[in-house]
Amino acid sequence: MDTQMLIGASFEAGTEAEETIFNPRTGAKILGIPEASPDQINRAVAAAEKAYDAWSRTTPAQRSAYLLKIADRLEAEADEFATLEALNCGKPINAARNDELPAIIDCYRFFAGAVRCMPGNAAGEYLPGHTSMIRRDPIGLVASIAPWNYPLMMMAWKLAPALAGGNTVVFKPSEQTPLTALKFAKLLADILPEGVVNVVLGRGDSVGNALINHPKINMISITGDIATGKKVMQAAAKSVKRTHLELGGKAPVIVFDDADLEAVVNGLRTFGFYNAGQDCTAACRVYAGPKIYERLAADLSSAVSSIRYNQADDSANEMGPLISTRQRNRVASFVDRAAELKHIEVTTGGKIAGENGFYYEPTVVAGALQTDEIVQREVFGPVISLTRFTDTDEAVNWANDSDYGLASSVWTKDVSKAMATAARLRYGCTWINTHFMLVNEMPHGGLKQSGYGKDMSLYALEDYTTVRHVMIAH
Ligand code: NAD
Repeated sequence: MDTQMLIGASFEAGTEAEETIFNPRTGAKILGIPEASPDQINRAVAAAEKAYDAWSRTTPAQRSAYLLKIADRLEAEADEFATLEALNCGKPINAARNDELPAIIDCYRFFAGAVRCMPGNAAGEYLPGHTSMIRRDPIGLVASIAPWNYPLMMMAWKLAPALAGGNTVVFKPSEQTPLTALKFAKLLADILPEGVVNVVLGRGDSVGNALINHPKINMISITGDIATGKKVMQAAAKSVKRTHLELGGKAPVIVFDDADLEAVVNGLRTFGFYNAGQDCTAACRVYAGPKIYERLAADLSSAVSSIRYNQADDSANEMGPLISTRQRNRVASFVDRAAELKHIEVTTGGKIAGENGFYYEPTVVAGALQTDEIVQREVFGPVISLTRFTDTDEAVNWANDSDYGLASSVWTKDVSKAMATAARLRYGCTWINTHFMLVNEMPHGGLKQSGYGKDMSLYALEDYTTVRHVMIAH
């Protein structure tokens, strides 16, 4: 197993406190990995700085070729990466292998193509005797910080557009899930010039904090909690760094009375419980119309109770455990507090599951009211709340009544109603009659406190580059 950080061209172990990495399926320790020292962080930033001049002057075609090589190597080793990701995160192997790895490989390929055809304004004479042109140039040194729910995918979402844009990067994975990033560092070191990507390990309040406050860093890209995003903004203000924030969600799902009930039930069973609900777009906050509510509550509860998890044969598992004891206990406490309310009925699940490992039962909390904590706060676990609405305005107002603004969905057979409702939702994405589907060509990112960075798509390439004006006097 690869355990060393990548600093410039050298692989080295951290010299500070050790972090324990657990197998979430069994609760057993996999290994301990020490975190980076301040000197190691400084050397990683210095390596990125040294690499910047040459890397930023490569042509789009050259950077594209590097990204394609990365994608090819990743594809060749996809099984090993999927196995390691499943081990560290507790993901069912089929999800890691068949869903995540292909999307991650495609992310590098998408940006390899996109950077060669960046659109822009026409050059021209906007002042007589002068020609103006717009350039799209890299921002400089990017510190990228990732969460634990999709470690290798978040790494791809951050590295691919940053590298395509001509930036150099110091990357920090979550202290809980560094294993695929460390293996990937080996692959990157074989392909990329020295210092273009550096990988340092450690906790948020030590290594992360040092990176976001580092005077040489020009941009911070982070996916994580709102509270962490606020700390990033404060640190960025000190030296006016650019920020790219992806900060969680609490996705509303509006189910109108005329929706296809079977499709809704299948959709919620899949999109509410994928990655054990540890997903910022998880379909977790359901608002159902008055005529469909009772049937939805009954059918969904029965469907959710059939989700397979904690089976010895991992290929049979549809859902994995939570990432840690702490996260599992957090989820349990949300459901316990909800269950104490008289109007709430936990129709399936509601308990910690299994003897070992960090499992929580797939859970449906019916009868929830808009003001309930379970409706307002991000649970980040396998829990769906159900709330009954009376009319469209109420559904839209409740859906929008949230600090979050990442993802949402609308379920109805009436196209006009779907489009009119989608237009009123204050979310970075609205799906109609589906949920959760992402493609590398389309942007992913939030409004409100979910942040404002866009991942994937040409918009990410815009985020990781800057517009410059060059004017020539004739
Ligand atoms: P987290 O904010 O605790 O940690 C995320 C990363 O930030 C980790 O690498 C952590 O070490 C680092 N970090 C923490 N404190 C820091 C600090 N003071 N300075 C610098 N870095 C710091 O989040 P998490 O628990 O790892 O992930 C779960 C959260 O991420 C959830 O809220 C989830 O919704 C959110 N998330 C959002 C998206 C999105 O696209 N919007 C995607 C996935 C996860």
